[in-house]
Amino acid sequence: MLDAILEKSRGELASPSRMRRRVDVQRLPHGRLKHEGKTYISFSCNDYLGLSFHPRVVEAAAKALQAYGTGAGASRLVTGNHPLYAEFERAMAAYKGAEDCLVFGSGYLANIGVITALAGEGDIIFADKLVHACMIDGSRLSGAKLVRFAHNSTVHLQALLQKYRKHAKRCLILSETVFSMDGDCAPIDELARIAERNLATLVLDDAHGLGVIQQALPSHTILTGTCSKALGSYGGYVCASQSMIDFFVNHARSVIFSTGLPPATVAASLAALEIMQHENMSGEVLKKAQTFTSRLGLPEAQSAIVPLIIGGDAEALKASDMLKAEGFWVTAIRPPTVPENTARLRFAFSAAHSDADVEALIRAVRERLGAFLPCVS
Ligand SMILES: *Cc1c(COP(=O)(O)O)cnc(C)c1O
Repeated sequence: MLDAILEKSRGELASPSRMRRRVDVQRLPHGRLKHEGKTYISFSCNDYLGLSFHPRVVEAAAKALQAYGTGAGASRLVTGNHPLYAEFERAMAAYKGAEDCLVFGSGYLANIGVITALAGEGDIIFADKLVHACMIDGSRLSGAKLVRFAHNSTVHLQALLQKYRKHAKRCLILSETVFSMDGDCAPIDELARIAERNLATLVLDDAHGLGVIQQALPSHTILTGTCSKALGSYGGYVCASQSMIDFFVNHARSVIFSTGLPPATVAASLAALEIMQHENMSGEVLKKAQTFTSRLGLPEAQSAIVPLIIGGDAEALKASDMLKAEGFWVTAIRPPTVPENTARLRFAFSAAHSDADVEALIRAVRERLGAFLPCVS
């Protein structure tokens, strides 16, 4: 019985080039990683500000680890709510201009918890075609009707609202500040206006925006995010009004029924957030990504993420191997993470990269992957 399920799954992975594997890597400082004894410059990590190796972040985590031990011991609503949580939540709310913040075990858990708390049977959710899997999983789990709108198309969203909104009670609109596999930004002010006009709640996932893109949060918007990317740590959060956060404390099941994060992890996030606030590193990351796109004739980078669309799965894997041979680690992203026939290399730039790293990457891409670049005059 189980064997048959496994066999079927293998068959469904249409070709070997779609099979996912666990590859052993050891991340190193300065945007490097080690694999099978060789060191690569990695353009596949979401540590956008290089804070996961920042001495002050590491020290804060080490001190908390010594002082408070390894685990939280229980759910946050039982005895797992170390005072570091409140400190981080206050700092994050202030950073995002929100009234309050609530930390979850991960970004995935934050989105699942927020969406299932806000919607249920008889409600409707409109989600951008490219939102992250956890927003889709949260929507499905909620039992609400799920309708997808074309990527960043407010015209399509409004047409769908017109058609479906009146049949539902509560209504959510889901999008991201920066899209994880395309690196482009959502029209958040317009989405907020549409939400208001339709008595809907806008939920934005800021996983790839935090620390890279500075945007004012439209009022009444709910912002989810992760501590595992620019903050270089682990955990997830939601920023919203005070009353909304109180509601999540009582209704978001993924925070109620899951153990709190280890205090040392929260200490690392807090230290990283303080550095993010006091040192302006975001401009630096964006500049690196934009140097890459302008020199290669690609559409201008809007964030730290730059996709190079290859098309086929096998070709994308081959392109990734070609850069690997030159000493660059750039993972191929394949369906179902991205739509069919849009397998790609996803370059993630970081403040940890030197200008020379970016120059070397530009040379390698131009020499080895010229066929995938737009014609540059
Ligand atoms: C990474 C990511 C998440 C999940 O965050 P984790 O903390 O890794 O669980 C959620 N949403 C988006 C858009 C992401 O890219």
